[in-house]
Amino acid sequence: MTTPSDCPAPEPLVDSYGRTVDTVRIAVTSACNLRCTYCLREVERTPSPPLPELDMKRMKRLIGVLGQTGFRKIRLTGGEPLLRRDLVELVSMAKSTPGITQVKITTNGLLLEPRLRELLDSGLDGVNLSLDTLEAGRFSAISRRDEFHKVRRALDALLERPELRVKINMLLLRGINHDEIPAFVELTRTHAITVRFMELQPFDDHQIWRTGRFMGADMIREHLYRAFPDLAPVTGTDTEHYSFRIPGFQGSVAIIPAYSRNFCNRCSRLRVTANGRLVSCLYRQESIDLLPFLEEATPDEKLRALITEAVRRKPKDGLKNAHDHVAQSMSQIGG
Ligand code: SAM
Repeated sequence: MTTPSDCPAPEPLVDSYGRTVDTVRIAVTSACNLRCTYCLREVERTPSPPLPELDMKRMKRLIGVLGQTGFRKIRLTGGEPLLRRDLVELVSMAKSTPGITQVKITTNGLLLEPRLRELLDSGLDGVNLSLDTLEAGRFSAISRRDEFHKVRRALDALLERPELRVKINMLLLRGINHDEIPAFVELTRTHAITVRFMELQPFDDHQIWRTGRFMGADMIREHLYRAFPDLAPVTGTDTEHYSFRIPGFQGSVAIIPAYSRNFCNRCSRLRVTANGRLVSCLYRQESIDLLPFLEEATPDEKLRALITEAVRRKPKDGLKNAHDHVAQSMSQIGG
């Protein structure tokens, strides 16, 4: 039972602290084709098979009920979403779901360029490309894979698509890639994209986190101002606390102070892990297992109630309780 497309979409849910929750990040797989040093081990300590994924039927059910519950924006992530052979179909299904207005992906870009046209045809609204360096040797050192040429092709293809909302997410690692800040900003000179400099977070089980590579928002800002003294602040999205534009440049740059500065008060999202667990907060271990309820026999009301419960459980401030170490990799939680 789905909402007929001629019915107006329901209003988004509002959580216990007055935040409108209209966005879901869905990890469509837990598998990844890179082994970034800050995210995954080359070989897991206790190797386990990849988590079973939600198939198309369950995804359709899930996204349909999310649309009925007032969710508007879907981001497909992972693991690496392009490892899903049916990603194009997933985008097109999500895009045609009543209530859903925006579908985007977050990808490392390795497999993007050959499928970009199909993704655009399926209605994709935006791409966040995770790219930490523009140098092939560094790319191999950071990601443990010698595949920079493929990501470069993806970047070039994205830069030729002004109709697509493109953001580059660059994770800053002090002493490893921070000297590339100006080169990344340069990408915004002639392209209307956003380059976002991200703080490292404590999500990796072998703890590069503890090796002095963290670079805080204030230090990132200093480097930006040093290279571009006429940097002008502008208003960014909810997570982009410091957004800037350089006079005459087409695009913008932002700093995501994901760790040093708490933006829980503007959080508008839930997450779904690759094996169908609904997560209220990135920094909380607890989750609701949706899998048993995605079977046909379960009425939509039950699923809507679980989603509403997850919104109700959103903590006021997740990060405050999580400044110690959180060992799970982002690729498991759905980064
Ligand atoms: N494979 C896709 C990609 O690379 O964009 C999606 C999943 S990946 C886990 C999503 C994002 O999480 C990437 O931008 C990556 O840089 C970020 N990430 C992973 N581990 C992180 C950490 N310890 N701190 C901050 N960001 C992290």
